[in-house]
Amino acid sequence: MNSTNSDRALVLRGGRVIDPASGRDESADVLVRDGRIERIGPGIEGGDAEVIRADACLVVPGLIDPHVHLREPGQTHKEDIESGTLAAAAGGFTSVCCMPNTSPAIDNPEVIGRIRDRAAESGSSRVFCVSCGTVGRLGSEIADIAGCAAAGSVGISDDGDAVANPQMMRRVLEQCAEHDRVFMQHAQDPAMTAGSVMHEGVVSRRLGLIGWPREAEESIVARDIGLARETGAAYHVQHISSAGTVDLIRSARGEGLPVSGEASPHHLLLTDEAIVRMGAAAKMNPPLRTWDDVLALRHGVADGTITVLATDHAPHTPDEKNRPMAGAAFGIIGLEIALALYAEALVHTGLVSWERMIALMTIEPARLCGLHRAGFGMLSEGGPADVTVIDPDSEWVISESDLKGKSVNTPFIGTAVRGRAVATIMDGRLTHRHEPDAVSAG
Ligand SMILES: [Zn+2]
Repeated sequence: MNSTNSDRALVLRGGRVIDPASGRDESADVLVRDGRIERIGPGIEGGDAEVIRADACLVVPGLIDPHVHLREPGQTHKEDIESGTLAAAAGGFTSVCCMPNTSPAIDNPEVIGRIRDRAAESGSSRVFCVSCGTVGRLGSEIADIAGCAAAGSVGISDDGDAVANPQMMRRVLEQCAEHDRVFMQHAQDPAMTAGSVMHEGVVSRRLGLIGWPREAEESIVARDIGLARETGAAYHVQHISSAGTVDLIRSARGEGLPVSGEASPHHLLLTDEAIVRMGAAAKMNPPLRTWDDVLALRHGVADGTITVLATDHAPHTPDEKNRPMAGAAFGIIGLEIALALYAEALVHTGLVSWERMIALMTIEPARLCGLHRAGFGMLSEGGPADVTVIDPDSEWVISESDLKGKSVNTPFIGTAVRGRAVATIMDGRLTHRHEPDAVSAG
């Protein structure tokens, strides 16, 4: 639809160009043409290029979210590749990695090919597939990891569920090591969490709801670190919720193991008390925990233990969320608002700089999934023209009209935030533009 944009060159003028991969941090212009970054430097003329003013803005590599649910194939009433990538572009993302808990699951090269074709025809961001560790995510038969890697899978996961059986997990990690793909674990011991709907603690007891204890996450992570040590596989913990998991990852990294983890906006900002106020709108898996866990996650980011930020964008319809806790769906959306929420938790609190936060959203997830090899997650002349312009001072209140996906399930409606993506350029074309005037009008 926007393909004509790629015909015209663009110059991003007057911004602070931050590229954590190279250490560049300077006032400069960026010229893009034919899907490539042609030049970065001061005072670029650009000829007939369309000019986008970036004064007082950060010009950074296109943001990468390594953990989203696009719901296609199989649950396109919640989201699809077209709507989910529109949401991504609105949030400043130029690449997303979609999880394999679709229907059918992403466990074979044919599904990966279908998703790639759909993204090429209707995507506003790049879509990379994470494929299953086990067939159908059922945990009993190893998936075709070699075939999926050859077809373009950038990581392996049974997200939505853990690979619970340790012998199966060991075999999956051996395959990941052999085919140079990271394994991304949804760390949840199913036996310890049957029927659970929220963090096990004071609040769950008060509400009389079945709890999901921290140990159900930490025990899987501890086991897997041992298996990663044995197999040599790269191992990544998805959506960390517990302080103990941060400690486990810190110590594994201290040993030099290729172990990493990601934090989601909600786990960096909310606690299980949100359930009291908002009910199932705050129902997540893994669950929101306590303020001590929130602080441990934030400090884990600040000290370099947690190197990746990921939304776990999980669209559901109002009918699926507006239910009593026991019957409501787990999860919330996040692509359009993640940048501002991370800034609230990490930058405005003084814990990390904008430069480091940009790294956590660009080169770090790119390295996790091997995307840096194709030049993603960085700004370099001759490299792909994926660029995000961020106004770090833009103040706004999150409303439903900011959400571009099919679903609006987020507990952050009405939250005042600061910082937003004002322009997103993917493959040389403008996929999102937020005019500052529209902000003050609201
Ligand atoms: Zn998950």
